[in-house]
Amino acid sequence: MTMEQDGQKRVVVVGAGWAGLGSAYHLARQGYAVTLLEAGAYPGGLVAGWQTAQSRAVEAGIHGFWYPYRNIFALTDHLGIQPFTQWTRSAQYSPQGLEVESPLFQAQPYLPTPLGTFLYTDFKRLPLIDRLSALPLLQALIDFDNSDEAWQKYDRITARELFRQYGVSARLYHESFEPMLLVGLFAPGEQCSAAAALGMLYYFILAHQPDFDVRWCRGTVGAQIFRPWTEAIERAGGKILANHRVSDVTVEDNQITAVVCGDEVFDADAVVFAVGISGLKKIVEQSQALRDRQEFRDIRNLGAIDVLATRLWCDRKIDIPLPSNACFGFHPTTGWTFFDLNALHDEYRDEPGTVVEADYYHANQLLALDDDQVLGQVQQDLAGCISAFGDAKIIDHAVVRIPQGVTHFAPGSYRYLLPATTSFDNLFMAGDWIVTRHGSWSQEKAYVTGLEAANRAIATLGQGQPAEILPVIPDEPHIQALRAANRWVRQGLKGLPDFWLP
Ligand SMILES: Cc1cc2nc3c(=O)[nH]c(=O)nc-3n(C[C@H](O)[C@H](O)[C@H](O)COP(=O)(O)OP(=O)(O)OC[C@H]3O[C@@H](n4cnc5c(N)ncnc54)[C@H](O)[C@@H]3O)c2cc1C
Repeated sequence: MTMEQDGQKRVVVVGAGWAGLGSAYHLARQGYAVTLLEAGAYPGGLVAGWQTAQSRAVEAGIHGFWYPYRNIFALTDHLGIQPFTQWTRSAQYSPQGLEVESPLFQAQPYLPTPLGTFLYTDFKRLPLIDRLSALPLLQALIDFDNSDEAWQKYDRITARELFRQYGVSARLYHESFEPMLLVGLFAPGEQCSAAAALGMLYYFILAHQPDFDVRWCRGTVGAQIFRPWTEAIERAGGKILANHRVSDVTVEDNQITAVVCGDEVFDADAVVFAVGISGLKKIVEQSQALRDRQEFRDIRNLGAIDVLATRLWCDRKIDIPLPSNACFGFHPTTGWTFFDLNALHDEYRDEPGTVVEADYYHANQLLALDDDQVLGQVQQDLAGCISAFGDAKIIDHAVVRIPQGVTHFAPGSYRYLLPATTSFDNLFMAGDWIVTRHGSWSQEKAYVTGLEAANRAIATLGQGQPAEILPVIPDEPHIQALRAANRWVRQGLKGLPDFWLP
């Protein structure tokens, strides 16, 4: 293994999103010589923020931080920053108007799950009988324990099929579950793995009453979190090199010895790949060393989803009752959300007109539109929720297209998702699509897998202490008891011949 002259071991981290920054920060603090290579012009990955030519702050979609994001909250405490708003309430709209208002769940008397979610959510139209049709689904939620076995079992069917099998009413599916899938997994139910749907719904909504409470950054995540964090990485000795797109690796004796980036070569004792699925596909296309391995060839079985983020500056103030809003029923296979940035971002608090962010998920057909067409669509959709948007003039805007940007947890994809370890001794994987038993999702999962990859590198290179990773909040006692009983029944059934499709 190569070593720097002062004995420091070298780790190259590829990709500066939540996962890569998480790895790089911990490894730099443990005394490694860390080089973080980022293809884009700014760190942050899908959460990067930047300024337009008119000095307007924009970002690749607004990002919420849900109640169970314990590791991210521990990080911001450690950095001594207070980037977040208060916990916020949210609403849901359809073309018929306001459909749902959520309370602050943590402010309500605590009830065993799922009673709080069921009783405190204020559905304006959805009849009780439809809401009750969700109850049988609890059995699947108990059965899905995030184990490898559970993923294999539920990943083979679509979320829509799962809800159908468990007797969820058509209205509950269309007005509640599918909108959550479009916003949480970026795809409609027939294109989502049932395993991912169960894992995501449990983590964000059902595990504990307050889990659906969310807060936002008081500006872009880039300015509020990544700027102080990257400064801390550099203070710890880490080097962050933007505009560095990795294309290949060199290999000797089953070890990655260097990372290739255009004309530059970065020697490494260990490497963390913290790039998304589309990024890794491009690296594999260029790298014979990676293409020689089945696990990396298999990446071509995975996919990603188009998203569109827009920010509109209006000529007048429009009353938006709650700061964060999800919408359904406007587009058959596209979900969208809108946010009152005057309420969330410090810099827009005193702005004379409304600043609104509207983000579209599974936005394939919208990516082909030009900016004016996009703005027309956004204004029409916003007016479908709050009519005053129809009369407003858009005085400035930002349209950010993110083709193939976010992970697609498609049915059948689980078998090709990579774990943290690879067939190379010193190459580790991190990112929101990497298999982990932690149980978190999205930004928190990306950060956690970054720490997990750092810990694997530490175990391999033998220098420094592993990062402390906070586990998800344990299941409530009645859920633990139900899971134990379910495991017992499953064990009993194992002896039966496996003649039928699982
Ligand atoms: C519009 C939108 C809204 C979202 N909303 C939320 C939300 O509300 N809450 C939430 O928790 N999550 C949300 N997410 C998801 C969240 O952004 C991701 O889960 C998370 O940012 C993933 O982080 P990551 O580090 O795994 O990957 P990424 O952020 O994708 O980072 C990977 C990095 O690798 C770099 N890279 C790729 N190829 C190379 C290469 N060859 N060489 C060097 N660098 C390379 C990329 O440029 C990128 O910076 C949202 C995403 C989007 C797009």
